[in-house]
Amino acid sequence: MKKGPNRKLGILNWIRRNREDEYELLHPSPPLSPEEALRVYPLWTRCDFCGLILYLATLKDDHFICSGCDTYLRINTFDRLESLIDPGSWRPMQELVSSADPLKFKDNKTYKQRLEDSQEKTGFQEAVQTGTGLINGCPVALGVMTFDFMGGSMGSAVGEKITRLIEYATKNGLTLIMVCASGGARMQEGVLSLMQMAKISAALYNFQNRCGLFYISVLTSPTTGGVTASFAMLGDVVIGEPQAIIGFAGRRVIEQTLGEYLPDNFQTAEYLLQHGMLDLIVKRKHLKNALTELILFNQGTPHRTHGLSL
Ligand SMILES: [Zn+2]
Repeated sequence: MKKGPNRKLGILNWIRRNREDEYELLHPSPPLSPEEALRVYPLWTRCDFCGLILYLATLKDDHFICSGCDTYLRINTFDRLESLIDPGSWRPMQELVSSADPLKFKDNKTYKQRLEDSQEKTGFQEAVQTGTGLINGCPVALGVMTFDFMGGSMGSAVGEKITRLIEYATKNGLTLIMVCASGGARMQEGVLSLMQMAKISAALYNFQNRCGLFYISVLTSPTTGGVTASFAMLGDVVIGEPQAIIGFAGRRVIEQTLGEYLPDNFQTAEYLLQHGMLDLIVKRKHLKNALTELILFNQGTPHRTHGLSL
């Protein structure tokens, strides 16, 4: 029998290859190894602060607070909505609004590619989810920022979704709640990101000052940059989560500019409460009831006006 490359065409090899093809047809995806399965369907996670291994189902029951060191771990948007909104009452809005790429921005990746990666990672089109729902039976317009989507940064799509939510709440006389988590304006969209601050603030002016409607801002870690400098701090009541990092510029930038060292707890929710930047710090497990109490309390105030035609 002739040896060499032609041997691959032998009858035994042909049968073996056919059997392999048949096996692949019958078993389209090979079973995952335990490591791969954990990556795709994780059951456990690890606290980055104390190293404790945490069972995800228990962690969810604990509102994503580490049972080892009481650190507030990041909570994803689905779990946040589930923890705040009455079951079955969430009606999302403007889910398909997505950023364009007006500057054709590119660093080590194109902006378009970064958007696609974040969309695949989070399952959302943009870094804020907006909609209406009930909180213990009280109707609200709610926006929840997704930090895992490009650091929760505010580009033109995020700004537009929040503005439309505020305008909807204004027309329908709804209480507005924003759960903030953001690194600030989205640099990939340049000045178009910055103008979202003014656009949202203008919509809030109509909502709060012209209609006397009620806006509660909930600041989670981290809330920084252009988001802090606009709608995050404009709440009629500004609530912080315990231990949350809230600021405008980063610690290092401030230290280098002032030439001074800052206290260890600088830019934490507790420090800001002491210095009058926050109204309340509310634990995660009490947040839904605290929001309900605030909404019910505000319903009795005399200045409240329903709706405005814009
Ligand atoms: Zn921990």
